[in-house]
Amino acid sequence: MKLRRTRNFQQYKGFIIEPSVQNFLCGRVWARDATLFSREKIDGYIQHGLIEVKAAIREGPICNRCLNQDKQQFITFQCVRCNKRCVYCRHCIAMGRMSSCTQLITWIGPQPRRHKNHRLDWQSQFTSLQRKASEELTESIKRGRNHVLHAVCGAGKTEILFTAIYDALNEGKRVCVATPRTDVVLELYPRFQQVFPHTTIHALYGDAPKRFSYAELIVTTTHQLYRFEQAFDVMIVDEADAFPYTFDESLKQAVIKAKKQQAPIAFVTATPSYSLLQQKKHGGYSFIPSRYHGYPLPVPRYDSLWGYDKSIHKKRLPKKLKKWTQARLANHEPFLLFFPTIDLMEQAIPLFQALHSQIEAVHAEDPDRKQKVLSLRNEQLKGLLTTTILERGITIKNVQVAVIGAESQVFTSSALIQISGRVGRNAQYPTGDVVFFHHGITVEMDAAKEEIERLNKEGFPHA
Ligand SMILES: [Zn+2]
Ligand SMILES: [Zn+2]
Repeated sequence: MKLRRTRNFQQYKGFIIEPSVQNFLCGRVWARDATLFSREKIDGYIQHGLIEVKAAIREGPICNRCLNQDKQQFITFQCVRCNKRCVYCRHCIAMGRMSSCTQLITWIGPQPRRHKNHRLDWQSQFTSLQRKASEELTESIKRGRNHVLHAVCGAGKTEILFTAIYDALNEGKRVCVATPRTDVVLELYPRFQQVFPHTTIHALYGDAPKRFSYAELIVTTTHQLYRFEQAFDVMIVDEADAFPYTFDESLKQAVIKAKKQQAPIAFVTATPSYSLLQQKKHGGYSFIPSRYHGYPLPVPRYDSLWGYDKSIHKKRLPKKLKKWTQARLANHEPFLLFFPTIDLMEQAIPLFQALHSQIEAVHAEDPDRKQKVLSLRNEQLKGLLTTTILERGITIKNVQVAVIGAESQVFTSSALIQISGRVGRNAQYPTGDVVFFHHGITVEMDAAKEEIERLNKEGFPHA
């Protein structure tokens, strides 16, 4: 009887491995005293050489979780746990404190068994460019080389990934799709679940529920990668240039740390940085300058809105902005209004709600953010005021977009390109209005507009 029960369990030198421990810890770096397993259990695995222990902060100091080396980000304090002067890493403190006396554990035992009968429930309706890009990406991953997938907003980047991911999974590889934003994780996860019905997929973000199965495919925020080490055979970084990714060197290192040494990285982006484009020389590169439905990208138009902030302070909605909003309401077109600051947005929201009660505002810390975006998509809301938090990954049919104060510093050219890319993504509504309301035209605004026009020219050389 006993033998039967353990038949499906792996053993290591006679020690029976509990799948939940193996599945959870494989590829992870975790604080020894913060796992959901008992202390005795973890100790047993350590004694049998299946789990390795290391200090969270090593000489330097360097944080072994987030790889932070910035001396100013290490704080000395009187620690109650070890009763000594201890140092902790401020850089990754949001994920729980890593201090000199914290121990990290990693799985070094045998890998969980992986099945190779994944299924791809998706009928490709690729354009020739999409098919080419998809084949090139699949080939790069097969050969273990890096790849840059440069595709305009709305080119169908996610679909291009499907075949490449499917191929890798069926070779028994573990795949990670990392993106800087939780919104993007939440949008990608159900789509992957739908097309890969036989694959265990986990979505990881700040407050995601913990799960103990072994996921062959992980969709995660780049931040959560701190908790992985040599875990993945294929690493796909979506929106590789996006804020805050470019701002934080350690997130790049987190990508490197989380993948296995030989594992290729595929960068997927609409607005590649110069250094990413240099990758062309060393790895694969695919470029899709046009949208999947074949229509050009909507080109933003400029409209002056002098002293808009003063007028909003005085509780007056600038005339042009009011007119624009009323036109959207009259045409039953959902809309997004991008604001440079939360403060200005909060002053403006009652003015918009006076036009229509079904207008709301969202920002990064808004707990109802997911719900509000969903309501706009379901047409329960007419429009949303937002900070740049919604610039990427959001797809809403027939959405119209206005940027208020496009001259503000937060609106970099790549942010403005992403914002413009929200419009006309659906084949039924391939066009729409993108207006930059401004108090003076900036270099960044011009750069965004020129780049969109350039991409359109490349996508439609004969137009
Ligand atoms: Zn750290
Ligand atoms: Zn301590």
